[in-house]
Amino acid sequence: LNSDSSGLTSADKEFENSIRPREIDDFSGQPQLIENLVIFIKAAKLRGEALDHILFHGPPGLGKTTLSRIVANELGVNIKETSGPVIEKPGDLAGLLTNLQPNDVLFIDEIHRLSTVVEEYLYAAMEDFRIDIMIDSGPNARSVQINLNPFTLVGATTRSGLLTAPLLSRFGIKSRLEYYQADTLRKIIERSASILQASISSDAAGEIARRSRGTPRIANGLLRRVRDFAQVLNDGVIDIGITQHALKALNVDEHGLDEMDNRILAVIIDKFKGGPVGITTIATAVGEEAGTIEEVYEPFLIQEGFLQRTPRGREVTAKAYEHLGRKPHTGHHP
Ligand code: ADP
Repeated sequence: LNSDSSGLTSADKEFENSIRPREIDDFSGQPQLIENLVIFIKAAKLRGEALDHILFHGPPGLGKTTLSRIVANELGVNIKETSGPVIEKPGDLAGLLTNLQPNDVLFIDEIHRLSTVVEEYLYAAMEDFRIDIMIDSGPNARSVQINLNPFTLVGATTRSGLLTAPLLSRFGIKSRLEYYQADTLRKIIERSASILQASISSDAAGEIARRSRGTPRIANGLLRRVRDFAQVLNDGVIDIGITQHALKALNVDEHGLDEMDNRILAVIIDKFKGGPVGITTIATAVGEEAGTIEEVYEPFLIQEGFLQRTPRGREVTAKAYEHLGRKPHTGHHP
C-alpha cells in the first residue's frame, strides 16, 4: 500500500474525496472561522482582487485541505495543490507560481516543512507577486525578476509553532481549526452515510461521533468500518447494536482517545504520580516531539478534561485515572 507522510493510502484518499464537502454550506462546524471566511471571500470578489493569504493550522483531519478547496471553489478560481517537502528547489516553486492564473489559489500542505531557501523565495512572491530567479552560475550569474499574477497562498500546518516569524507575518488571515463537538460530528457522519447510501440511525451516528476524537477524518473512517460490519451482519443497517458491536471489535476507545493519548496519560500517572510534569519530560518518556504533543495531542486531552495545564507542568485529572482504571495517587487528587 502506498501512503505518504500523512499515513493515508491512495484508497483512503479516494474514499475521503468521495465524501469531502465541496461547498461552504456542506462544511459543518468551525462557525467563527466560516463566518469570517465568508466575509473575506465576498470582499475579495467584490473588489476583483486575490484573497489575502490564509494559514489554516490545527491537528490533522479537521478540514484544512477541505476548506482550502472550498475557498477556491467559492472564489471561482483554480487551486494548485502541493506540500512543503515536495517543493525541493526554488525552481520548483517558480514553476508552480508562474503557472497560476490571476487570483488562483496555491495550496501548500505541511507548509512548516518548506526548506529555508524555498521559504525565502516565497516571501517576495507573497508580498509583491514577484520572484527573483538566479540564472547561470559563477561569473555569469545574474538575477532576473519575474512578475506573477496575483494569487492566494493557502498554507496548512499541524505545527504552526515551527513556522518562522517572517512567514507567519505574511499571512493576512490565520485561522485555527478546533476539535469538533460530538453533535457536529454526528451531522457530518449522517451526511457521509447518505452519500455512501448507507442507512444509519441517529443514535448510531452519535455513538461513532463520541468516539472519533473530535475529528471528522476519524469519524468518517469509523463509519466506513462500521458499515462493513452492518453489511455483513445486519443487512446493511447501521443501528446502535451493530455500531457498538463493531466499535468493540475494532477496539475503539470509549472516549475516542488514540494510542498516543492513552500513552501520554499513562506515563504521567505511572512515572510521574499524575504530575505536574514538564512537557519535554513527557515527550521524552513517550517518544514524541514536545511540539507535536502541545499542538496535536494535548489540546484534545485538555478539552475533554483528561489533562490540565498548571504553572508547574501538566497534570492528569481524576477522569484520566478512571479512564485508565488506575487508582489516584494520594495527596494529588481529591
Ligand atoms: P486536514 O487537511 O485538516 O488534515 P481534511 O480537510 O483532509 O483534513 O479532512 C479530512 C476528512 O474529513 C475529509 O474527508 C473531509 O471530508 C472530512 N471533513 C473535514 N472537515 C469536515 C467538515 N467540517 N464537514 C464535513 N466533513 C469534513
